[in-house]
This record gives sequence, C-alpha cells and structure tokens, in this order.
Amino acid sequence: MHYVICGNGIAGSTAAQTIRDNDPDGEITIISDEKYPLYSRIRLIDYLGDDVSLDELILKDEAWYKDNNIECIMGDKAVGLDAEKKVVKTESGKEMTYDKLLLATGSSCFVPPIKGADKSGVYTLRTIENADEIKGHCGGAACDLVVIGGGVLGLEVGNALRRKGHEVTVVEAFSRLLPRQTDPRASLILKRQMGLMGFKFHINSMTEEILGDSLVEGVRLADGTEIPCRMVIISAGVRSELDLAQQAGLNTARGVIVDEYLNSSDPNIYCAGDSVEFNGIIYGIWPASEEQGRIAGLNMVGEETSYTGTTVANTLKVAGIDLAAIGDIDPEAMKEAMIHENPSEGLYRKIVLEENRIIGAVLIGNIKGWWKIKKAIDIKSDISFMREFISKMDEA
Ligand SMILES: Cc1cc2nc3c(=O)[nH]c(=O)nc-3n(C[C@H](O)[C@H](O)[C@H](O)COP(=O)(O)OP(=O)(O)OC[C@H]3O[C@@H](n4cnc5c(N)ncnc54)[C@H](O)[C@@H]3O)c2cc1C
Repeated sequence: MHYVICGNGIAGSTAAQTIRDNDPDGEITIISDEKYPLYSRIRLIDYLGDDVSLDELILKDEAWYKDNNIECIMGDKAVGLDAEKKVVKTESGKEMTYDKLLLATGSSCFVPPIKGADKSGVYTLRTIENADEIKGHCGGAACDLVVIGGGVLGLEVGNALRRKGHEVTVVEAFSRLLPRQTDPRASLILKRQMGLMGFKFHINSMTEEILGDSLVEGVRLADGTEIPCRMVIISAGVRSELDLAQQAGLNTARGVIVDEYLNSSDPNIYCAGDSVEFNGIIYGIWPASEEQGRIAGLNMVGEETSYTGTTVANTLKVAGIDLAAIGDIDPEAMKEAMIHENPSEGLYRKIVLEENRIIGAVLIGNIKGWWKIKKAIDIKSDISFMREFISKMDEA
C-alpha cells in the first residue's frame, strides 16, 4: 500500500504518524514545498519577535521521518494530480502512483486587491521565509509600520514588532478589532488597552492604496487619510489551497468538501486541515488540523472513524492582555448571554447560552478557566453548573 501525502503541516504529518502507527509496512511519501520539516506555525510570531530560535520552531526533525520510515520530499511542490490514474507529479518532474492520497495543502494568505500591494516592503506571514523577510526589512531597523487587518494574527504580529521598537498602526475594515472573537463592548476594552501600549488604530477604514514608487512610503485610506510608513503587513485572512483538488475534479467550495470520514468526492482521496470544508466550516486552526490529520490517517488505513467538528477557541497572545474567545460569541447579541463587566479594570466576561447549554464565551482581563468553559461547550454542559462556576470566578 502506498500512501502519498501532499503537505507537511500539522495535518499532513499527523496523518503520516497515524498511518505508520497503524500500518507498519505501508509505504508513506510526503511531498512538501517547504524546505523545513514540520515546524510550529503558531510560534512564528515568537520567532518574529526574536523570542525563539529557528531550531526551537521545529516540531519533528528530519530524524523523525527517517526513524518512522517516512519519505519526506522537501522543497518540491505537487503540481499535477490525475485521480483516474492515481498519479501525483511534482514540480521537479517526479511522478508517483498512490493507493490512498491525502491532500493536506493548508492555506495561504489572502491579499486583497489593494493598489500598490506588490511594492517592496509589503509582507504577509505564513512561513519561516516570510518571517525572515520581515525580520530583514530595512536591515532589521525599527520603522513605522502599518498592519492591514485587526484580527488575532494582525494584532499578534503588530505586537511582536512593536516590542522590537516599530511604531505600529493597525487598519481594520470592520467596525471593531478582532471581529470574529469580540463583540462591540469587548472590542472597545481591547482597543483601549492596546492604545495604552502604543498601538494606533484606524477602525472601520478601508485601505485604498499603498503609496511609494517601488518602496513603501505610506498607506492611503478611503477617507483620504495618509499614514506614512516604511513597511506594510497584510493580515486579511487565508484561502484554502485548492489547486490539486480542482485539477482532480473533486467537489470544492471554499475548501475541499469532505464527509465525516474526511473523504473527498473521490474514494481514494482524503483531505485534512486548513484546506478542508466540513459541514460548511473551514476551521483554520491548529487543533482542528491536527485532529483531522489523525482521523484522515485512521480512515486511510481502513480504521473507520468519524470527525464531528472542533470547538473553535482563540486566545490573544499579546503580553499584558488576556483575551479568550470560545465557540459562538454571538457578536450581534441575538442570544441569551450572562455578562459581567468592569471596563475601568479592563474586565469583561460574556457566556452565550442556547437551550440551557453554553455555546460560546468571550473573556477579557481574567481568562482563568477558559478551557473549562471550552470543555463545558464540548460536553454540552448544563448551564446551572456554569452559573455557579461563573459567579465563583467573579469572587476570585
Ligand atoms: C503566524 C500564524 C500564527 C497562528 N497562530 C495560531 C494559533 O495561535 N492557534 C491556532 O489554532 N492556529 C494558529 N494558526 C493557524 C494554524 O497554523 C493553521 O490552522 C495550521 O497550521 C493548518 O495546518 P495545515 O497542516 O492544515 O496547513 P499548513 O500549516 O498550511 O501546511 C500545509 C503545507 O502544505 C504545503 N503545500 C501546499 N500546497 C502544496 C503542494 N501542492 N505540494 C506540496 N506542499 C504543498 C504548504 O506550503 C504547507 O507547508 C496560525 C497561523 C499562522 C500563519
């Protein structure tokens, strides 16, 4: 049996590990267009901030692949997929047949069609190479920088660079920061706290143009405001990598459509991670990719296992600010919610309820026990228990 895996992120490498654990003799080949073995994308922010070294990012070194008898072709891209012949082709001209194929190609950064986005000094952050380019900008000297996108990643990147002396302005098109993790009240508290740290914000602002000849000199917003800067980081979300799936004629929408076994519309092709669309959801988070990699691997070796979804939980990793968002945070305030707040102390806690169950929460200021709330969501806990828990949290 030959298992071929396209993509060596957490989804692909977890699938490889699961296959090896359950099929000691199968041949496993991973094709990765990156030149590094599995590393922590999450910790790229720490790498950008010089808080960890390149070595510390690596999660599975090359010896791991060897020890597990997994061939990992690095620095080569899968560019062709013929699902009828069951053949994958790579950019360097390699061709291989598979019995079972996993597409774990993840996603790439979305760059909106902003005039001037191709200028030197405009970056996105997805890979070690991207982080190295940002670190090397202007010879590593601190400068004025604009982050386009006030989501979790944009704020974390901005903070890593602010700590290195850069002056950071965040431009967010939506009416609040962290639109997917906060409601309007939580966002105001966050904005105030980050303002005190030195961030400048333009909320509800569209970026019209990145200014300069070939090098970035500033950003012009739709209302005419010009923000001088020498670097721009675009953090406007990600898009699933669908090239191979589309070539093979698989069912795709925003991601590759899969069933509960993470099987695509072709019985021999599975999909896991950021490129998957399951029940209309693209999770785009590490734990979901890891879990999907594990379940896809099990199904590829014939151990029928269902994926039922992942509860989305995000924490903002900005020192001095504690923020956690879990599940459905109901930003439009359409559902029942228990809210405790003390804006002057930067405290906000909202638990969203539906049919006597907790379905989501936003916590700012004190996020102690956030994972207990996540667990309560996962096990569909009764709210009477949580009401007691929350009142005790407030006494703490
Ligand atoms: C800076 C940053 C911080 C993040 N922080 C968090 C966080 O705090 N918490 C969280 O849950 N999530 C976080 N994420 C998201 C998380 O990293 C992703 O959800 C996760 O890495 C997805 O894993 P994956 O294996 O599906 O895809 P990826 O990690 O994208 O891996 C896919 C791999 O496949 C390769 N590839 C693509 N096409 C091909 C091809 N045709 N041939 C060969 N190789 C190919 C890609 O280059 C890549 O190496 C963060 C992401 C970034 C960029």
